[in-house]
Amino acid sequence: MPHDYDDSNIFARILRGEIPNDTVLETEHTLAFRDIQPKAPSHVLVIPKGKYVTFDDFAENASPEEITDFLRACAQIAKAEGLSTAEGGHGFRAITNAGSDGVQEVPHFHLHILGGRVMGPMVL
Ligand code: 5GP
Repeated sequence: MPHDYDDSNIFARILRGEIPNDTVLETEHTLAFRDIQPKAPSHVLVIPKGKYVTFDDFAENASPEEITDFLRACAQIAKAEGLSTAEGGHGFRAITNAGSDGVQEVPHFHLHILGGRVMGPMVL
């Protein structure tokens, strides 16, 4: 079943420039900005510019170019935030919430990149 995309969601409004955001990185297909309620010293939300609701929607329906652009943007952000272990950083957590059981608040696919402190065990 196709995912219904709600054009009024807050990230769609950010993409349309209707709501300000603290941009970390913008590429052809991807926008990354700081979470308004950060859960770690570094908390960046990475979103595709395309209309994808969840991780699986993005993975199934985005083009290879969009997917590569998104993943490379994530790696670039980890590096720029000083989190990349390849660059001497201490690492990070990347998570996505999908749907009601995943407790997804905003119905536009986004990856949370969290770092700058020890994250502790995953809370299930
Ligand atoms: P979810 O629960 O959908 O995975 O996460 C949504 C995230 O979006 C939350 O961490 C929340 O703090 C963040 N958020 C909600 N509204 C805004 C907003 O207007 N601007 C920014 N930068 N982040 C937001």
